[in-house]
Amino acid sequence: MEHIVIIGNGISGVTAARHIRKLSDKKITIISAETDYFFSRTALMYVYMGHMKFEHTQPYENWFWKKNRIELLKGFVTAVDHEKKTLVLAEGKELAYDKLIIATGSKPNKFGWPGQDLKGVQGLYSKQDLDKIEANAPNKEACNRAVIVGGGLIGIELAEMLRSRKIPVTFLVRENSFWNGVLPSGESEMINEHILEHHIDLKLETNLVEIIADESGRAKAITTDKGETIECNVVGLTAGVTPNVDFLKDSGIELGRGVKVNRFLETNIKDIYAIGDCAEQHEAIGNRRPIEAVWYTGRMMGEALAQTICGKPRQYSPGHWFNSAKFLDIEYQTYGWVFSERSKQEHESHFHWRHASEKICITVSYHKDSKKFLGINTFGIRMRHEVFDRWLTEERDVDHVMQYLKDANFDPEFYSHYEEEIISKYNSVMQTSLSVQKKSWKRIFSKA
Ligand SMILES: Cc1cc2nc3c(=O)[nH]c(=O)nc-3n(C[C@H](O)[C@H](O)[C@H](O)COP(=O)(O)OP(=O)(O)OC[C@H]3O[C@@H](n4cnc5c(N)ncnc54)[C@H](O)[C@@H]3O)c2cc1C
Repeated sequence: MEHIVIIGNGISGVTAARHIRKLSDKKITIISAETDYFFSRTALMYVYMGHMKFEHTQPYENWFWKKNRIELLKGFVTAVDHEKKTLVLAEGKELAYDKLIIATGSKPNKFGWPGQDLKGVQGLYSKQDLDKIEANAPNKEACNRAVIVGGGLIGIELAEMLRSRKIPVTFLVRENSFWNGVLPSGESEMINEHILEHHIDLKLETNLVEIIADESGRAKAITTDKGETIECNVVGLTAGVTPNVDFLKDSGIELGRGVKVNRFLETNIKDIYAIGDCAEQHEAIGNRRPIEAVWYTGRMMGEALAQTICGKPRQYSPGHWFNSAKFLDIEYQTYGWVFSERSKQEHESHFHWRHASEKICITVSYHKDSKKFLGINTFGIRMRHEVFDRWLTEERDVDHVMQYLKDANFDPEFYSHYEEEIISKYNSVMQTSLSVQKKSWKRIFSKA
């Protein structure tokens, strides 16, 4: 029986395993050095915040794996020998495979800062990081201040976690506005305000220079390039992630920043594949990055690869970009492409609306000549994925989207709705006289 070995029990590896099992009787082994069972990485923060126990982050019961004949092996893979088709585990044990799936995810970036390996300095990625933050910052008495370095999605999550225990937080962000390499300026500025209102000491255009140790080798302060020294007990390093592929350096598998793959997620070596955060496309797909370190793309890659491995070759073909996240209590969704001013394309124009007093806004991006709808970012309004996906496929123009915005709104009925305000600003900016159309369930559930 063909033996499929998967390194990594995250969303991508586990999705591949589940779908291979659905499609075949192959022998499947998943190896992970992190935890016995798959858990939802995106929910780690809620464990520290007391909203759930770690066990609740595990989407499947512990019996699921045995019942579905998916063997789980705890161990760290140190090398791959593709000629012998074996893996070497940390304790020297070898494991043979017929087909190998590398799904080893990411690790937090470290940029060689002096003191980056001191006690009290950590990232937020793994279950071990969750245990560390619990030990390093159990409460505000043990942790008088934390400094977070790097202003992306994980940095703001770590800030929210620490604030939930009233721990003072200083947040160092290299850019002159939060995440403005990704978000258009109106949104990024709104998030700056929101961070400050949550009593997080946001320091923009500020870089970490050094982490200083006390006599026991624990972080006791940091210095910045603005000449400031900030005393702290915890330093959170959240300046992005890098594919976790160091163990493959001498394997003969082609590496860039990640494991290089083609559209079928195949590497340069026969019978070896890579998926999820650690996979790097030779050529990016559309506007996507060659490495897509997000949850749902790992799931889609796992599904596509399972088909290929089970004899129905399928390319990874992710469709329209979408994602969602949370900035403290503001929900963020994005569909299609809305670029920041820094990476905006020449043909891209934006319409931005922001509520007068609340932290609610949208940015709609469209082609400046044809008015074709290109994408939308929403903050504080929940939208329907299927509706935007269909409008993007149908290549609707921006006027259509604005008129039928009620169809896309997914907020409960009793929430305030803002379509009238939005269209009124749109009409005045765009010199149009559109009116909001009533929501239609028939339209919502029609197919593209
Ligand atoms: C705090 C946090 C919040 C996030 N929030 C969001 C979000 O809101 N939305 C979103 O889209 N994405 C989010 N992400 C990103 C998302 O979680 C990742 O894109 C996704 O988990 C990657 O899945 P994966 O299966 O590729 O890898 P991983 O989940 O990283 O799993 C890889 C596994 O392989 C193991 N491994 C690595 N090397 C070896 C080895 N040599 N031997 C054995 N085992 C090994 C690792 O220990 C790990 O268990 C978040 C990430 C973090 C850390």
